[in-house]
Formats: sequence, C-alpha cells, structure tokens
Amino acid sequence: MNGLIRQVDSMGRVLLPVEIRRHFNIIEGDKICIAIREDAIVIKTQSKSCVFCNNRENLVMIKTRYVCNSCKQEVI
Ligand SMILES: [Zn+2]
Repeated sequence: MNGLIRQVDSMGRVLLPVEIRRHFNIIEGDKICIAIREDAIVIKTQSKSCVFCNNRENLVMIKTRYVCNSCKQEVI
C-alpha cells in the first residue's frame, strides 16, 4: 500500500495532506472518525449534515458550512 508519509508532532498531531482534504472535501471544523482496523489506523469523514438541524439531505454549502434547504429558507 502506497501512502503519504507524515511526521507526528510532540502533541501527537498529524497533518492531513491537502490532496486528501481536497479529495474528501474536508474543511476546517469538520469532524472525522479515527478507528483501529486490525493493524491499521483508519480515518473516516463524517457525513455532511446541516449546521442547524443535522439533516443530511438536500444540503447546500454556504461559505464553509452545509445548510439544508429547509433551514436555508428559514434563514432567508
Ligand atoms: Zn437544516
């Protein structure tokens, strides 16, 4: 398996390479799930959801956050 090599810093943090963030549309503030699968560490993106009601359908992106159409109409 080929992968990108990154160094863990003194706080245990690892930077997700920009190529991976772009591929998975990961932006600042997004939540990710970190799990152990046999001998590997797996990082999964959480499903995108409305910032107001957590609805996962009919999402539109406003600036850097997802909002469902229903909440968008309320805000407007
Ligand atoms: Zn909503």
